[in-house]
Amino acid sequence: MYVIFEGVDTSGKSTQIARLKTRLPQAIITKEPGGTNLGIEIRRMVLEKTEPVDETAEMFLFLADRAQHYRNVVAAHADKLVISDRGFVSGMAYAMANQKSLDLPLLLTLNRLALGGNFADKIVFFKTNEALILERLGQKHHDSIEARGVEYLLHVQYLMEEILKRLELPVCTVDAGWSEEKIEQTIEGFLI
Ligand code: C5P
Repeated sequence: MYVIFEGVDTSGKSTQIARLKTRLPQAIITKEPGGTNLGIEIRRMVLEKTEPVDETAEMFLFLADRAQHYRNVVAAHADKLVISDRGFVSGMAYAMANQKSLDLPLLLTLNRLALGGNFADKIVFFKTNEALILERLGQKHHDSIEARGVEYLLHVQYLMEEILKRLELPVCTVDAGWSEEKIEQTIEGFLI
């Protein structure tokens, strides 16, 4: 089963993934971008850029990472529980936020190609809010994307919700403001 954890930066995905690693030792824990050797290179190219990266080029790099990750990690462990920190929802939402000309049907087609049609079996969506983003951004090192600020992240979150509405996939929405224990229990109930 392929499960993706989605939500904007600071929504708490990585904290829960770290907890699940101990709770579900049989699960394959992975991430996008960066879940394969090629992905590690792509992550470095996109996130530690030494020159401005064209937005279309960036979208194709994330798609290349997704295709490699799908084949080498997700499909390679088809009989196991694979939990990924981000997937196509982030891919589409950040691409649309960065490039207004991209529309949902085109991105769905590109992502279908990258994923061989298997978008995800289940999605856990971490929903946050303005106050929580501000509080958490204040505590954390800002990378270039987080530095674009709260309005940018709220817009990306809105796009993620629009994407989820368009797809008929099982989604469990957790409130990023809940306690870590409550989020963990909710996710475990959804995954069983
Ligand atoms: O969550 P993680 O640290 O892996 O994400 C790295 C950065 O890449 C985040 O700041 C996120 O906003 C960005 N990202 C993106 N497009 C994606 C996936 C992640 O812009 N498809």
